[in-house]
Amino acid sequence: MLTEVADGVWVRQSAWVWTNSIVVRGEAGLILVDPGIDGSELNGLADDLDRLGIPVVAGFSTHAHWDHLLWHFRFGDVPRYATRAGAQAATQARERAQAMAAESASGIPLELIGLVTPLPPDGDPVPGEILEHEAHAIGHAAVLLADRGVMLAGDMLSDVLIPLLDHRRPGQVGAYETALDLLGEAARHVDVLVPGHGAVAEGPEVAARLGADRAYIDALRRGEEPVDARLGPDADWLSGPHQLNLEQARRR
Ligand SMILES: [Zn+2]
Repeated sequence: MLTEVADGVWVRQSAWVWTNSIVVRGEAGLILVDPGIDGSELNGLADDLDRLGIPVVAGFSTHAHWDHLLWHFRFGDVPRYATRAGAQAATQARERAQAMAAESASGIPLELIGLVTPLPPDGDPVPGEILEHEAHAIGHAAVLLADRGVMLAGDMLSDVLIPLLDHRRPGQVGAYETALDLLGEAARHVDVLVPGHGAVAEGPEVAARLGADRAYIDALRRGEEPVDARLGPDADWLSGPHQLNLEQARRR
């Protein structure tokens, strides 16, 4: 079921790690951001879109992890975009993403995974502003829809997942600090925040999400193991235990 969280912004949550498929109304039609996860859910999303009666004109992936690179035939053969760096990473990681998708969920059209190209410099047809940073994944993007008071955060600012540092690259603590500054500035213009996984934040909860991620990264910066009730450790569908984050932080 699609829930309209702001004017022309709808969210449908998957049973898989509270993943949010996001639908944004643009000038020419709908843009699907990170649709997921399993085949029946993608099919259900297609039914929801039929009911909206507005054509899908494009897709957008916030970053090149498999759960953000999915698509379904029923969404149509339309261009799917990411940032330039994100698209390059998606192309390189495509086979691995297909394997992970096959292993993690059922009914995903594997041949459609990761077929993204760089978003044109003017951003068209994705409305709003792309906020690109290097935390969590190469070329990770948030989408700021300032006129609607909404930010789509990708895998940042979740209430269910801890910050998950990119273990393949050094400098992730600094990258998170820079990214949180960028998103914090943008958050002054929003009262609805849609994370890639977890609950939509509204009003004062938006600042609380920023505060939680900042506190986590601050602890890593001090070389301490963060105290945080969100998931990460012991979750076998993710490889982001605090300890790994801490090791990564010390590697800078
Ligand atoms: Zn994710």
